[in-house]
Amino acid sequence: MSIPFLDLKSINQQYREELVEACTRVIDSGWYINGSELEQFEANFAKYCGTKHAIGVANGLDALILTLRAWKELGKLEEADEVIVPSNTYIASILAITANNLKPILVEPNIESFNIDPNNIKDAITDRTKAILPVHLYGQLADMSAIMQIANDQNLLVLEDSAQAHGASYDGKIAGNWGNASGFSFYPGKNLGALGDAGAITTNDDELANTLRALRNYGSHEKYKNLFAGVNSRLDEIQAAMLNVKLPHLNEEIAYRRKVAEAYRQGINNPQIILPTTQNESSHVWHVFVVRCEQRDRLQKYLADNGVQTLIHYPIPPHKQQAYKEWKELSYSISEKIHSEVLSLPIGPTLSMSNVDKVIKLCNDFKS
Ligand SMILES: *Cc1c(COP(=O)(O)O)cnc(C)c1O
Repeated sequence: MSIPFLDLKSINQQYREELVEACTRVIDSGWYINGSELEQFEANFAKYCGTKHAIGVANGLDALILTLRAWKELGKLEEADEVIVPSNTYIASILAITANNLKPILVEPNIESFNIDPNNIKDAITDRTKAILPVHLYGQLADMSAIMQIANDQNLLVLEDSAQAHGASYDGKIAGNWGNASGFSFYPGKNLGALGDAGAITTNDDELANTLRALRNYGSHEKYKNLFAGVNSRLDEIQAAMLNVKLPHLNEEIAYRRKVAEAYRQGINNPQIILPTTQNESSHVWHVFVVRCEQRDRLQKYLADNGVQTLIHYPIPPHKQQAYKEWKELSYSISEKIHSEVLSLPIGPTLSMSNVDKVIKLCNDFKS
């Protein structure tokens, strides 16, 4: 018996015929960059998020970097401005800030939700604070009502990192439609994954959308006329075509992930394993199913010895990374505790319920 963490091959096999057909269509079109597939995907994804615009870019990191960059070009941010970001996140959220010579202010999460704690945001605000970059970690929306309240009171920009949360919603409002803008990743392992790298920004702001369309394309709207010193960060036609095939199936896949998560939450009752919590069903799309365990490394080895692959999201907090060695004296105790205790169990749209039951039984039989 062997249960993989995420079986990407079987996920894409579900749509094999449609994917091959879409790929053939692009090959035969003779048009491979900035064409009709991208235009359609941008329209489809904007509609899915209920936003006025979606702008395709090369990956999720670029979606975040370019949005902050666009705000600099538009005079809304300047170098050394402070951007509040959770201390427990994938490093990309923080890289986007430092890549723009802005200053990340790391703020502790709530240990129950794993997401940034709005009370800690309030405490971190100074007169240099210009933006908040909340992350919808593991697929669960951050506490956006509270965060938007703070942002509105303090006149701060909000850039959501929605790379793990396509389709998560709360109070009828979906990830990507809360902040001034939102960055998405379509990395193959994300809930909506391309067959390579891809990303997008959603926003209701026309001026921002327009600036982003230029920035991703050498700073140019019109060939050989450059308004900005932009970059090359485009979403290829082939990847847009793959995403056009997969987007209509996203909600079914989310529904299946919820079924798996519910089974884990009902079935695992080992007091040594702390289960994840949600605000309500719609607020979580279960990109990963993360439990906490003081004996995490032993639990991971025990599951591996029994054929179950698990991952750790993430083993080293950003402030302890060599990349940010200037922060190595800083201490964020909640983040550090999370990083030392979390373990992600297998979850995905093609994981069989009988395998879910096997994982549940193994977890319940684990003794420290
Ligand atoms: C995956 C991810 C990103 C970056 O996306 P890429 O497409 O890999 O560049 C950013 N933030 C978070 C939280 C992510 O999980």
